[in-house]
Amino acid sequence: MRRLNILTAAVCVVILSSCAVNNELSGSERTVYAMDTVMTLKAFGGDDEVGAALDEAEKEIKYLDNILRRENPDSDIYKINRTGSAEVSEDTFKLIKTALDICESTDGAFDISTAPVSDLWGFYTKNFYVPSDIEIAEALSGVGYENIYADENRIYAGGVQLDLGGMAKGYLSEKIMEIFKNNDVRSGIVSLGGNVHTLGTKPDGGKWRIAVQDPDSDEYIGEISVNDKAVITSGGYMRFFEQDGIVYHHIIDPKTGYPAKSGIKSVSIVSDSGTLADGLSTALFVMGLDKSEEYWRTHSGFDAVFMTDDDNIYITEGIEDCFESRYDYTVIRR
Ligand code: AMP
Ligand code: MG
Repeated sequence: MRRLNILTAAVCVVILSSCAVNNELSGSERTVYAMDTVMTLKAFGGDDEVGAALDEAEKEIKYLDNILRRENPDSDIYKINRTGSAEVSEDTFKLIKTALDICESTDGAFDISTAPVSDLWGFYTKNFYVPSDIEIAEALSGVGYENIYADENRIYAGGVQLDLGGMAKGYLSEKIMEIFKNNDVRSGIVSLGGNVHTLGTKPDGGKWRIAVQDPDSDEYIGEISVNDKAVITSGGYMRFFEQDGIVYHHIIDPKTGYPAKSGIKSVSIVSDSGTLADGLSTALFVMGLDKSEEYWRTHSGFDAVFMTDDDNIYITEGIEDCFESRYDYTVIRR
């Protein structure tokens, strides 16, 4: 059970908003709806730079949404899925290459070809349905990232259907950070449906404080103070339906074809790379705590906060100094 840590009980405050602005920096905010998500972008710097950066970032959001959206007949993903192979944009190619690395390193816990199974459960159309074991087995026979092959500018799907929903927003947040930097934005933060990415310090010089949501309420289980990092969370509570008292969520275990039941309620990944953080948040949610610990010990470039089904909180030691919670938590060490 989650236990209140009395010493830090007063610390849990909500983040993202209020930041005292350095006199020289002006700030501007923009909200964009894309990838089925409300996206909030904040940038601080000179007026012209901030305006240009937000305009360019908004263009990039629309561009990536367009080329990655499965149902858009002009998108790279649609073309690959319809014809089995297609020449794709540099972004799609890069994203799929990185995704395949994560599929492989997580032994298929992350699999960008789970679309037939997600579709069967109705997560794509929102016509939710609990399929039979036979239907699941049939859908699973069309899943397998090993069939996908990337060469030159082409992606070969090898008979499977691609869905980059588990990683696209992390790739996008990373691109927005590049756009901010290229436009001399000194400080910024984006929240893409709860996936957060920060640039520099807050305008007042302090660290950005990112709340980690309690999967069971509107409260927060803790906060992470960071600069220049992505903090990306996956949880069954984010998209789900309920039938006969059973909750079915949108993160599929590619080995079973069922919503992953790994003993984790949510996992937040902290990393310099939004793409890695997004891929791993989904993957580690599927893998569960023990396998995730092992993965963290053998792979670099990220830290994590886990909340388990029995309401215990675990963090990896790399974020020990920047994580605060009013609850007790366990630090996982190398
Ligand atoms: P996220 O919110 O980043 O964890 O991504 C969840 C989304 O990724 C789902 O809505 C699906 O589109 C897709 N997805 C579901 N299960 C998996 C999986 N095991 N590997 C990769 N993508 C998945
Ligand atoms: Mg993800």
